[in-house]
Amino acid sequence: MRNSLISTGIDESTAPLLEYAESVAALHRAAGKTGDNAPGFFIQTFGCQQNEADSEKLAGLCVLMGYARVARPEEADLILVNTCAIREHAEKKALSIIGQYKHLKDANPSVVIGVGGCMVTQELRVSKLKNSYPYVSFTFDTGAMQYVPKLVYNALSGGKRSFILTEEWNLNEGLPSLPESPHSAWLSIMYGCNNFCSYCIVPYVRGRERSRPVQAVIEEARQLIANGAKDITLLGQNVNSYDGGTDIAGLMRRICALEGDFRLRFMTSHPKDASDRLIEAMAEEEKIVKHFHLPVQSGSDRILKAMNRRYTFDSYMDRIRKLRETVPDVSVTSDIIVGFPGETEEDFEATLRVMREADYDMVYSFIYSPRNGTPAARMEGQVPREVSSERMSRLLSLEAEISDRRNSRFEGRTLRVLADGISKNDPDMLTGKGDPVRPIHFKADPSVIGRFVNVKIKKTSTFSFEGEKEE
Ligand code: SF4
Repeated sequence: MRNSLISTGIDESTAPLLEYAESVAALHRAAGKTGDNAPGFFIQTFGCQQNEADSEKLAGLCVLMGYARVARPEEADLILVNTCAIREHAEKKALSIIGQYKHLKDANPSVVIGVGGCMVTQELRVSKLKNSYPYVSFTFDTGAMQYVPKLVYNALSGGKRSFILTEEWNLNEGLPSLPESPHSAWLSIMYGCNNFCSYCIVPYVRGRERSRPVQAVIEEARQLIANGAKDITLLGQNVNSYDGGTDIAGLMRRICALEGDFRLRFMTSHPKDASDRLIEAMAEEEKIVKHFHLPVQSGSDRILKAMNRRYTFDSYMDRIRKLRETVPDVSVTSDIIVGFPGETEEDFEATLRVMREADYDMVYSFIYSPRNGTPAARMEGQVPREVSSERMSRLLSLEAEISDRRNSRFEGRTLRVLADGISKNDPDMLTGKGDPVRPIHFKADPSVIGRFVNVKIKKTSTFSFEGEKEE
């Protein structure tokens, strides 16, 4: 199935900027670059699902400008790099890739290169790109995607290089989106974060929380479903505090009421905002996937306070208990940071305890690494790397033990699975997703990709499930 452009709400201030897209397309038409001869675009995306969703909007803008997607940067006439700032390592990686594009510009001086995303909301990075990467034509921060057609038009018509820091923190309404997959879709419902966890850069690079109007979200969901979406993930840095005219529970119930055979997920949640209403909606609405990602980060109240997480071990476990009582067989996953400044052996033991008591299906664990610009980077008591690594290996073996046991409960059961694509590890198998958090591999004809099938689970391991499609 071919993807169609999805329109994402209405914003009158965006419309005049989108007229530049037509001006860019007109330049291509005048040069005879249309149809099979259309110029190519390539988008390199770093970071989280929010960035992936933003890149789908950038792809939509590229199509409006008359570009066609190509598979490799070498084939592109327009290269956009959507960067991440969550760790300094991610920024260095993006800068290194951008550095490699210099030879493409040398080989073809008409290539236009633009850099967007969280990294370029920081003045220091913008001036580095401006001064040390002369082949980069423009940057645009996370609130400035609507300027991209104007920036491309300026670059193509010999205008000056532009390095804008708008700090507009808008809702990115009114931009077209070109979903990567016709059957699995991201749907941004809010942007930014008000929580200021002491280790996190997000509130500084994505601004304060703002929710998209409920009608705009529902209309986009309707279009995604009409376009063939079967698995929709509502996205936001803290989706639990959505307030675009209703709360997250109300929003999900309204999306579930739309006609169509689809399933709904959401991420990411903050434990302090995981309401009873949301948990009850998950229990009652058949279309909501029975998986709750509830990042705990640490089990120690002392460390949680230093992280500014605004919950305790007890209040976190209260949410887990409510979830398990209300949604039978729910899969629960979490994020954990090991070696946060000041973490003692006793604090780490509390983290292992929360893992045992919450009985997670899966944990995304990270060794703490200081992020410049956050309060935690200046804290005393940075934990030596060898101590963090040793704790991490204990955490991973506990996780494997818990995951193995949790996963085995699915053995022998028949699950409703969305066939997502060919397995990366075995071209004879398909891979799919259902309520369990691990991917499900099964034998079936590739013609079922994009459809729900019933799969009987034969074998489970720590990282995946294996099964057979039932007729
Ligand atoms: S809630 Fe998440 S996005 Fe917001 S500051 Fe904390 S870790 Fe960062």
